[in-house]
Amino acid sequence: MHRYPFTNSLWRQHDETFPYPKLESSVSCDVVVIGAGIAGLVTAYELQQRGKQVVLLEAAEIGRGTTGHTTAKCSVQHGTVYSKLIRTFNLETARLYYELNQEALQYLRGQVTDGFDIDYEAKDSYLYSIDGSSQLVAEREAYEQLELLGGDATKEVNAALPLQVKQALVIRDQAQIHPVKYLNELARRFVEAGGQVYEKTRATEISGGPRPIVTTSTGRRVQGNQVVVATHYPFNDIRGLYFSKFEVERSYIVACETEQSVPEGMYLSVDTPSRSFRTFQEGDKTYMLVGGEGHLSGHVTETRSRYDRLDRFAHDTFDTKKASFRWSSQDLITLDHLPYVGQMFSREPDLFVATGFAKWGMTNGIASGLLLADLLTGQDNRFRELLNPLRSKFKPTDVGQFLKTNLDTATQFVKGSLEKSGTLDDLQLDEGGIVQVDGKKVGAYRDLDNECHLVSTRCTHMGCTVNWNDAERSWDCPCHGSRFDTKGNVLEGPATKPLSYERKTDVPKA
Ligand SMILES: Cc1cc2nc3c(=O)[nH]c(=O)nc-3n(C[C@H](O)[C@H](O)[C@H](O)COP(=O)(O)OP(=O)(O)OC[C@H]3O[C@@H](n4cnc5c(N)ncnc54)[C@H](O)[C@@H]3O)c2cc1C
Repeated sequence: MHRYPFTNSLWRQHDETFPYPKLESSVSCDVVVIGAGIAGLVTAYELQQRGKQVVLLEAAEIGRGTTGHTTAKCSVQHGTVYSKLIRTFNLETARLYYELNQEALQYLRGQVTDGFDIDYEAKDSYLYSIDGSSQLVAEREAYEQLELLGGDATKEVNAALPLQVKQALVIRDQAQIHPVKYLNELARRFVEAGGQVYEKTRATEISGGPRPIVTTSTGRRVQGNQVVVATHYPFNDIRGLYFSKFEVERSYIVACETEQSVPEGMYLSVDTPSRSFRTFQEGDKTYMLVGGEGHLSGHVTETRSRYDRLDRFAHDTFDTKKASFRWSSQDLITLDHLPYVGQMFSREPDLFVATGFAKWGMTNGIASGLLLADLLTGQDNRFRELLNPLRSKFKPTDVGQFLKTNLDTATQFVKGSLEKSGTLDDLQLDEGGIVQVDGKKVGAYRDLDNECHLVSTRCTHMGCTVNWNDAERSWDCPCHGSRFDTKGNVLEGPATKPLSYERKTDVPKA
């Protein structure tokens, strides 16, 4: 039988670092950081460097989250963000956002000078349009107003790429890295400085009040003076203050080997469909990484064709071989496109959050770690208000998006229960879907050994119906982006509890 390849991130292929222990007893410290992606690790590392005693809890392993599945362009060129921010806010806000990310990039360069071994490469960063999108006209004006080091690069890009572009913009001297090497370096140095990392340790609850306590899924407790939630989607939003303010978008990447010459630089098109690409050199192998095909998480079942389209683009444009690696991941987009970093709830001064990086979390994630390290050690930080999660006033432009997000959640909530479903017999090997078993709808996957894995389709977070994702072989929630494997285990939050699960053998197929 032809088996569709299982997905695997290029960044995680040689991840042979010694695993960190599980938390086996209750402990206390100054600061508990939850989540070992870029935001959590930079926060933990910086706080430990500044003399705090920090405990870092990770539900899975370092690099298992979005940071292990990113494209890892470390750039201040975040799509057409500057014209958007000038339009939504003003020039000053756009300038502050630029400086926030520029300082993060500068911090990363400093770490490389200090010996961080992360495959850092300085590259120019390009935006282009084949269709002649008006977005680039506005963005170019924004670059001029902000006096960014760059500007029009149409001729340059036409000379560099085998594409006919109508307009292109550049920002000089940005960077690309190996994201998992970066996380591992941070973790190693954090532990060397006296910090504690616990992997396979999922936080399920945080008590309020002074000296908050974090409880884990195995009932262990970690008490600290302050707690930072850097779990990507905040799992502890029981009052739902954040749920209505995010969109979760999933996107896809293929890494294809090539023996042809490849363009210098990192590229992103603003057309539909958008394409993002960069290179990665590993020994004598050159990979072209191509990303795109984004959609709202959990809204698409047939995801294999998304990889196929990226593979075709890579082959047609750069004469690459078939993808050696293919993977996908998701990121959170806030209503005003600015991250939420700072105090999480108004009545809980010791609880902090870092999230909502809108697919630009490499510099934003570093910036959030630096900001939180300042806030938790009583230092001033000029970006505090820009990213303040409690900025509550809606801008008129946010309202439409807010209504759209919440209407969509309500629709997804009832949609699953209305849809028609087949039976277990209909499922072929390596196929999943929602089926009827004993008069009840369940999620089912028939594996390559002909065993059927049945799960409840009700997301344990807020009860929306999960959908099958055929390339990842996962159950994805369309409401808030929680994901579960074929046995119901949590792959991504905000859910913290598994789906109920049952295994059936010897089920005939049609
Ligand atoms: C396809 C794709 C490409 C991208 N490309 C770029 C790019 O080129 N440049 C760029 O700047 N940005 C890019 N981004 C965005 C960037 O990768 C993310 O914004 C960033 O990695 C998010 O980091 P994080 O630390 O918030 O989350 P994560 O890396 O997801 O880390 C969160 C961690 O928390 C853990 N966790 C979750 N729940 C719990 C719990 N209850 N208890 C304990 N631990 C928990 C998770 O296991 C995970 O390890 C891309 C995003 C995507 C999806």
